[in-house]
Amino acid sequence: MADQLLLHVDGKDQPASDGGEFAVHNPATGEHLYTVANGTEEDVNGAVLAGRAAFDDGRWRAMPPRERARILNRAAVLLAERVDEYARLESLQIGRTLREMRAQLKRLPEWLEYFAAVAQTAEGSCPEFGPEHLNVVRRVPLGVVGLITPWNHPLLITMKKVSAALAAGNSLIIKPSELGPAVPGQLVALLEEAGVPPGVVNFVPGLGRSTGKALTEHPGLAKLDVTGGTETGRVIAAAAGRSLIPVTAELGGKAPVIVFDDVDIDTAVAGALFAAFIATGQTCVQGARILVSRNIYDRFQEVLVTRTRQLRLGDPMDLQTQVGPLVSQAQRDKTAAAVDRAREQGATVLAGGRIPEGAQYANGWFYEPTIVGDIRRDHDLWSEEVFGPVSVIAPFDGEDDAVMMANDSPFGLAASVWTQNVGRAVRVSRRLDIGIVWINDHHRIDPASPWGGFKDSGIGSENGLEAFRSYTRQQSLIINASDTPFDWFGTDEDLRYS
Ligand code: NAP
Repeated sequence: MADQLLLHVDGKDQPASDGGEFAVHNPATGEHLYTVANGTEEDVNGAVLAGRAAFDDGRWRAMPPRERARILNRAAVLLAERVDEYARLESLQIGRTLREMRAQLKRLPEWLEYFAAVAQTAEGSCPEFGPEHLNVVRRVPLGVVGLITPWNHPLLITMKKVSAALAAGNSLIIKPSELGPAVPGQLVALLEEAGVPPGVVNFVPGLGRSTGKALTEHPGLAKLDVTGGTETGRVIAAAAGRSLIPVTAELGGKAPVIVFDDVDIDTAVAGALFAAFIATGQTCVQGARILVSRNIYDRFQEVLVTRTRQLRLGDPMDLQTQVGPLVSQAQRDKTAAAVDRAREQGATVLAGGRIPEGAQYANGWFYEPTIVGDIRRDHDLWSEEVFGPVSVIAPFDGEDDAVMMANDSPFGLAASVWTQNVGRAVRVSRRLDIGIVWINDHHRIDPASPWGGFKDSGIGSENGLEAFRSYTRQQSLIINASDTPFDWFGTDEDLRYS
């Protein structure tokens, strides 16, 4: 890894216009990793102008879709060759285990391949317009789009947005999270190596409150696409509203894991652990509320608590480690404070609930995987998103109660339903006010499958054909196909004009 991560604008690496930079540290050890150029308002402006120039001269937008697709497929091949290197880098900077990052990054070429296929097969339409006209509706790219991404899946989330936006022919400005910008930066270089022309993909790292703010408020953008916390989403959607541009926002969650009494308990506990503690709980779809049918509750809780205590917490680079540190001190302190407040409000910590002791944890932001019981729906922990390795467990009585508890949240991003009864699975999932519902599974994602939340969890969705369409707009061509002369003011006849 280079010592310094620079901006990449119009095909060139460059420092910030004022020379500003900040540092990224390893959250497991505290070690300094590299410095990052902190993009200024002037840099953001330069990037938007470069993106606009590339859009206007058509170097990417006007390229035949088949050629664009070839380049995206070439990028997929290059990415597949670099998975191990990128996975290592992701683990070093955000603390997620190497085992997880390898498994996640291995899938990412699929996004480029999928959207390459969509670019080639996308079609316009030809609505009926009456006998004298032909109406051709084309899908055209938007222009320069701003992509703002979080740190918890640095490359996955960048890839979701980049592949759809590029396939549709747009120019891009990427503002990655300050905590994990290295691999998104490498993706930009890789895309140019594959043949994306300079100026099409511009990379402006920096702080959300300055670089991110300058980007969202820039009048030259045609769309904003953000993944982040719900409050960040509100700020960015407000800026998009002022510019009258569309916004896609993938925001926070508090996913329920709903376990009915016909499950195999060991299988369902394995599912709940997977839901709760992947990424040290730092995923938007984390299984944060484990709801269990009362008649199996005691047994389920006992197995869940036992297995939670057995999770191996430690060095994310060690392939035996199952749970790494949190990404930052702020995230660790927020987690610890949420658990302490739950205790004060009368909940019971059943597993974890501590900063672990020992030399191997001394310099990192570790927190034990935690299960909290005796939770009431007026406790803060029931509804707030912690974004750490903390899940609550609560019993329910029957389907109506399970649905009511699952929907009792400001968020509506994801849920999983665990049952062998197909009718129940379908009935319950239909009643959930939630965008992504897994049956007997959790966390699964595919480039073809829509990913988006209801309620405070966001606007619009990533993945699938809708995501591609959201990076286009419709242009309606109405062609006069009549041989009959038309002269509205040359006659008093009752002519058709609408
Ligand atoms: P965050 O603090 O909201 O930041 C997200 C991005 O927005 C970062 O690049 C951040 O820059 C930037 N930003 C912050 N304030 C901004 C502002 N005023 N104007 C413009 N940009 C701004 O979120 P995070 O901590 O990185 O990620 C965790 C959150 O993301 C959780 O709430 C999680 O649920 C959500 N998430 C949702 C999904 C989903 O698919 N729904 C997926 C993953 C994560 P800095 O990093 O420099 O502050």
